[in-house]
Amino acid sequence: MSDSKRLKIAVQKKGRLSDDSIALLKAIGIKLQIRDRLLIAHSTNQPIDLLLVRDDDIPGLVMDGVVDMGFIGENELEEKMLERQASKRPAEFQTLRRLDYGGCRLSIAIPNEMKYTGIESLNGTKVATTYPYLLERYFTEQNIDASAVMLTGSVEVAPRAGVADAICDLVSTGATLEANGLREQEVIFESKAVLIQKAQPLSEDKQALINRLLPRIDGVMQAKE
Ligand code: ATP
Ligand code: ZN
Repeated sequence: MSDSKRLKIAVQKKGRLSDDSIALLKAIGIKLQIRDRLLIAHSTNQPIDLLLVRDDDIPGLVMDGVVDMGFIGENELEEKMLERQASKRPAEFQTLRRLDYGGCRLSIAIPNEMKYTGIESLNGTKVATTYPYLLERYFTEQNIDASAVMLTGSVEVAPRAGVADAICDLVSTGATLEANGLREQEVIFESKAVLIQKAQPLSEDKQALINRLLPRIDGVMQAKE
């Protein structure tokens, strides 16, 4: 087991949030030596350890109190929260800061040739997504009778493969949709990266460290504006 006195922060190991999250930690003065294949990285100048994991695991690690903090996209965080609430598992956390990277939107997109006169055109359809809870919440709010088909990858090829009528996926430029003959139709969730903390109280030392780090994060974000 690692030293419980050190602040544990979960960060995506490899992907769209990794570089910006690690750059932010370095910008606030945390010295880190990250070696490729390791799960954990120790700071050399602060009592902080990074846990380098898949982004999907980060909300659960924070909600279970296994790590003290985490950097995560709001899309993933909200989906995990809904999933855990549905199965009555712990889903609490505190959002410390909304960050200035990781921006994207979760949108419903349809094949170019599909007739669409408004959201009611989705009635009776199957929509492929990695975010079934967010999608089903949206269908309920909008009074649409459609079903979510869970796919963890290759969502954008589902209509061509005959697996679904439409998709609901993360979009930033729209290039991937276009390349797959799809058209963005409804934005269901707007997301950015956030820094979260576990709901359970931390030791005085750890909380004091976080309280010293947060103004530095604010400073780095302001300097970029
Ligand atoms: P992992 O292997 O860690 O599970 P992943 O493939 O699930 O990685 P990434 O594609 O690296 O995840 O995306 C991580 C997060 O980056 C997304 O959940 C989202 O919050 C954010 N993001 C920002 N822009 C985009 C985009 N254009 N497409 C997908 N995700 C984006
Ligand atoms: Zn992931």
